[in-house]
Amino acid sequence: MLACFSALVGLLLLSSASGFAADARVSVYLREATGQPRVVVSAMMAEAESLLAPTGHAVDWWTPDATAAPGTLIVMDLKGGCEPLQDREAAPLQGASALGSTLVVDGRVSPFGQVNCDIVTRYLNRALAGVPGSLRNQQLGRALGRVLAHELYHMLGETRDHAREGVAKPEFTVTELMAESFAFESAAAAALRASATLPPNDIDPSRNK
Ligand SMILES: [Zn+2]
Repeated sequence: MLACFSALVGLLLLSSASGFAADARVSVYLREATGQPRVVVSAMMAEAESLLAPTGHAVDWWTPDATAAPGTLIVMDLKGGCEPLQDREAAPLQGASALGSTLVVDGRVSPFGQVNCDIVTRYLNRALAGVPGSLRNQQLGRALGRVLAHELYHMLGETRDHAREGVAKPEFTVTELMAESFAFESAAAAALRASATLPPNDIDPSRNK
């Protein structure tokens, strides 16, 4: 399991995509999404789409009743409740906790991962408590979208590496998750753009070692 952590202590810009005849299609199945607050899940999806779009990857949201999954199929489990905590004074997280993770099998990054909503909601609880109610779900969803995009970076780039800045960094601060904008830094974005030009089976497995 490749875990990507929250930072409890201190722990870009992308040019628009060009030069691609068409975006690479990525189908993401958000498992256990049923029953989660729609406004949070929608904001998560919108943020992930927005972060991946400049890298040449177009995200489709696959469901089991769909007949086909265009492009690469990725399965992301949503763990725990993806909604702001009712208890504004809930105990904060102790130590580093994984906001999301990607499964690595025999040294290879798999297309299976999870977003730990229960951890993210606790991590952001104090910050979200200061956000007006009408915006709280939106900002939680946006933060979850950043965690989701981080795991997609591992999967689409078939890499366990991290960047020093941006969405591909190994740890996110509360400030980064709550910021108005947050993006992949240039090298990570370039790696994602490169992966968008390769059919999934042509990705070099040696990059995972
Ligand atoms: Zn990571």
